[in-house]
Amino acid sequence: MPDLHTQSLDLLVLGSGVAGLSAAVQAAAGEPGVRVGVLSKADLHQATTRWAQGGVAAVLGGDPDSTDLHLADTLAAGAGLCDADAVRVLVDEGPGRVQDLIALGAVFDLDAHGGLALAREGGHSVARVVHAGGAATGAEIERALVDAVRATAASVMERWFAVDLLVEGGRCRGVVALDPQGRRHDVRAAHTLLATGGAGQLYSVTTNPAEATGDGVAMALRAGVATADVEFVQFHPTALHHPQMPRPLLSEALRGHGALVRDTHGERFVDELKPRDVVSKAMAARMLAQGVEHLWLDATGLADFGARFPTIAAALAGAGLDPAVDWLPIAPAAHYSVGGVLTDLDGASSLPGLWAAGEVACTGVHGANRLASNSLLEGMVFAARVVEAIARGQDGCEETGAMRRANWLQLRVNRPVSAAKSSDTAKIREQIQHAMTIGAGVVRDAASLAGVNLAMPPEADRVDVCEVRNLATVGAAVVAAAVAREESRGCHTRTDFPDTSPAFARRLVIR
Ligand SMILES: Cc1cc2nc3c(=O)[nH]c(=O)nc-3n(C[C@H](O)[C@H](O)[C@H](O)COP(=O)(O)OP(=O)(O)OC[C@H]3O[C@@H](n4cnc5c(N)ncnc54)[C@H](O)[C@@H]3O)c2cc1C
Repeated sequence: MPDLHTQSLDLLVLGSGVAGLSAAVQAAAGEPGVRVGVLSKADLHQATTRWAQGGVAAVLGGDPDSTDLHLADTLAAGAGLCDADAVRVLVDEGPGRVQDLIALGAVFDLDAHGGLALAREGGHSVARVVHAGGAATGAEIERALVDAVRATAASVMERWFAVDLLVEGGRCRGVVALDPQGRRHDVRAAHTLLATGGAGQLYSVTTNPAEATGDGVAMALRAGVATADVEFVQFHPTALHHPQMPRPLLSEALRGHGALVRDTHGERFVDELKPRDVVSKAMAARMLAQGVEHLWLDATGLADFGARFPTIAAALAGAGLDPAVDWLPIAPAAHYSVGGVLTDLDGASSLPGLWAAGEVACTGVHGANRLASNSLLEGMVFAARVVEAIARGQDGCEETGAMRRANWLQLRVNRPVSAAKSSDTAKIREQIQHAMTIGAGVVRDAASLAGVNLAMPPEADRVDVCEVRNLATVGAAVVAAAVAREESRGCHTRTDFPDTSPAFARRLVIR
């Protein structure tokens, strides 16, 4: 590995999921001599991306699908808060990006005629989701991108941890990072791309891997970079209730094929085919009423379970469960961070030299709730736009997409975060997760949000400490935005403000 911290890069990519690697591959294949670095806190292949199961939504078949229909489905899921221009970019450029991935070597499942097999998922009005290895889509995308990055001249810094943005003279000049031995370095770059993923680890129960600690949003908040929509956290209703973390997903397809959600008395209480947020809310209310930590998914009536759902069957076997006879313990789990670092249509943040793409970003495509299988697509599409914008000399953000101020309500976060009494970071992490789950989880109200106490360990050059500090920082922002949004919309549910209010048809922007 070249000594990256002694030279300045043209583009420093933080994170090695679908967004970061897509950008790195494209940038390294661009102008000759361009110096690209990928800095990631774990091994290169370790990212939420590789856990993605369902697939990538893009208009790759002909009639009856169209990009207008994909746009309409995305806007409907976003509950009035999507930026229509950003969604237009997503649906128009998405199919080309999937073809780019195929050209790189990603292998998607084919139908009997040799065309891409298209599946239908909740919220999509037609079949338009491509998948790989059944439910191993993310693993295949990650494999193809990791292979492609390793084949380029991009320098890779694995197990390096980005601590904070380097801001000098009003622009981002790279990051302060810890190397694998815990030594501090300034890693300098003309442009820095945040592609650090989401913050599912804010909650006790999550489908996200341990790395999803909201580091990118926390770095942005500390540097005064605008973030938005952070109150919108999508929960998946049917995660297996099991000590294993991240929690295995029991996909929507099971409910689609007739699996039933039952409470602790075995009663059904919700239409299983309703969208994720509706089922999650009904389950959270029932769990609270019955004082239990989980409910049940009854898939005993599903024929040929193992043949139809091999990945899920394997996960269940690993947990000692047989879906033919056992009811499966389930609970909602934090799944996707809808908001993040605010960007324009080209991925530029409010800080010159800093760009964001993927789950860390708020491009405006998801609005108040993400449509299933739109997030891998968002990562590919907007990462590519960042590289194109840098190549044509864009510097700083423009008033496009979610960056249009007319649609903002500005918010200050003045929520105190106390100093932790213990130095046990694992314990503090658990306390943060517990507080967020109880106070700012699937359903919230003023009292529950007021009760969220977040403690912060003192600064230290250690990854575990930095991650916990980041969780506290992002948690405080989520709570502040959830307090301010006095309505229910998309995946933000306030029991004290159950209706959607036109006064809040704006994004809450934290600077
Ligand atoms: C179980 C599950 C199933 C899903 N299924 C689907 C699906 O079917 N379709 C779909 O579209 N989406 C799905 N999603 C969501 C989707 O997987 C993610 O939104 C997407 O992969 C995020 O990609 P990303 O590149 O933005 O970030 P990630 O893939 O999360 O990558 C982030 C990277 O940043 C690195 N990083 C983080 N912080 C730092 C730091 N401080 N310093 C250095 N590096 C850092 C991480 O190590 C990682 O490499 C699913 C998610 C889960 C959890």
